[in-house]
Amino acid sequence: MREHYDVLVAGAGPAGLAAAQAAASHGARVGLLDAQPRAGGQVWRHDVRLPAVRAARQAIDTLQGVELLARHSVVAVESSALRVETSQDSRLLSYGALVLATGARELLLPFPGWTLPGVTGAGGLQALAKQGWPVAGKRVVIAGSGPLLLAAADTLRKHGAQVLGIFEQASADAVRSFAWQLRQWPARAWQAAGLRLRLAGVPYRFGSFVRKAVGDDAVRGVEIETPGGVQHIACDLLAVGYGLVPHTELASLLGCALDDTDTHPHVQVDALLRTSVAKIHAAGESCGIGGLAVARIEGAMAGHVATGDIASANSLMPQRDRARRFGALLARHFALDPRLHTLADDQTPICRCEDVRLGALASFGDARAAKLATRCGMGACQGRICGTALAELGRFPRSGARPPIFPARLATLAGLATLSSDDA
Ligand SMILES: Cc1cc2nc3c(=O)[nH]c(=O)nc-3n(C[C@H](O)[C@H](O)[C@H](O)COP(=O)(O)OP(=O)(O)OC[C@H]3O[C@@H](n4cnc5c(N)ncnc54)[C@H](O)[C@@H]3O)c2cc1C
Repeated sequence: MREHYDVLVAGAGPAGLAAAQAAASHGARVGLLDAQPRAGGQVWRHDVRLPAVRAARQAIDTLQGVELLARHSVVAVESSALRVETSQDSRLLSYGALVLATGARELLLPFPGWTLPGVTGAGGLQALAKQGWPVAGKRVVIAGSGPLLLAAADTLRKHGAQVLGIFEQASADAVRSFAWQLRQWPARAWQAAGLRLRLAGVPYRFGSFVRKAVGDDAVRGVEIETPGGVQHIACDLLAVGYGLVPHTELASLLGCALDDTDTHPHVQVDALLRTSVAKIHAAGESCGIGGLAVARIEGAMAGHVATGDIASANSLMPQRDRARRFGALLARHFALDPRLHTLADDQTPICRCEDVRLGALASFGDARAAKLATRCGMGACQGRICGTALAELGRFPRSGARPPIFPARLATLAGLATLSSDDA
C-alpha cells in the first residue's frame, strides 16, 4: 500500500504542526505523521487530567487541510518513500517534499542504581504522569540539568506528587547569569518566573548531582553530591535528565548530512532549512536544541519552503535567528560538569536492553566492535540511550542509524526491501 503527498511532515510536535499548516496554506496535499496517538510532540503531549495550554489547542484544533496520520511510526526508508508501521499494517508514504520534524529525546547518563525501577528521565516521568501513570502522593527527587527540570516538577506537582527537591548540576553562578540574560526573551522570562512561583517551597539546589540511587527491588533513596557535601534523601521516584539530544536517525537513513561538531549531532540545514538531500527539509529540535519558539518558527519556514514560498520563509528568518540564540544560551549555561562522566563504575549497566555493563566495553575502540562482541546497543532502543550516553562519556561516538529505527512487527520487517542481511 502506497500513498503520495505533495508535502509529508514526519513528527507532529510544534515544528511539524507549524510546517504542515504552512504547507497546507499553499493548497498542497499534506500528510502529518507521528508515532504517537495524538499530535503535540513532547511539550504539548496530551495530558489525561489537565487541559491543554492555549497555544497547543490552537495549533492542534485549528489544523486545516492536513491529513493527520497518528500512530504512524517511520521505521525505514525504501525507494524514496517512508516505510511506516501503523497499529494495523505497514505502508509506504511517498512525497514531493519531506519535512523532518522528529524532535529530541532526553540525555540519560549512567550512575550506580540508574536502572532500578522507579528511576526515570525527568521529561520521561513528566510524560508518564501526563499519560496517567499514578504519581499522586509519591516522594519524587528531580535532578539533572536545564529548565526541563522545573517544567517536569511543575507537571508532577499538578498530578499530586510530592517533589522533595530539584538538583541542578550547573553552578549557582551559571543559573543566575542565565536568568539575568533571559530578559532578552521576555516570554521565556515570564514563563520561568511563573514556574518559580508555582514551585515556591520546593528546594532548588545548584552545583548538585546524583551520585547513586539506592534500593533493592525499586529505588528507595538517592545520594546527592552538593557543594556542601553528600546528601541522602529517601524517595519513591527519582527523575534525572541531562538536557536533550536531537533525533537524527531518520535523517541519517535518508542520507542527510549531520553536523557533528558537537558531541551529539544534529541535522545539517542551510538558512532556509534545506538538508543536504534535495526536497528534504528539517525543522525544530532535530536541527539542534532550541526550544518551543524555534520549533514553531522553523516549522513554518520549512512548510513554506517545501511548497516553494521562499519569501514567507525569509520574512521569518530574523525571528528564527533570535529564537535560536536562546538555544545557544542554554547550551552555554547548562554545560555538563565533567564529574558526571565518572559516576558509572565497571559494574554499572550501560545497555539496559541487553544487560551489558560498562566494564565489558573497556577493550573496544568503537561502537560497532563493542556491539558485535557484547550486543551493546542491539536492544529495543537501538542504542538511543546507551549509544548516546557512551558518546557523552567520551567512550566512542554514536554509530550510524540502521533500519528499523524503531521496534517493528515481524510482518513489517519481513516486507522491508532495505533490510539486507548485513543490517539484521
Ligand atoms: C521528554 C521531553 C519532555 C519535554 N517537556 C518540555 C516541557 O515541559 N516544556 C518545554 O518547554 N519543553 C519541553 N521539552 C522540549 C520540547 O521537546 C521542545 O521545546 C519542543 O517540543 C520541540 O518541538 P519539535 O516539534 O521540534 O519536537 P517534538 O515535540 O519532540 O516532536 C517530535 C515528534 O516527532 C515524532 N517522531 C520522531 N521520530 C519519529 C518516527 N520515526 N516516526 C514517527 N514519529 C516520529 C515524535 O513522536 C514526536 O511527537 C521536552 C522534551 C522532551 C524530550
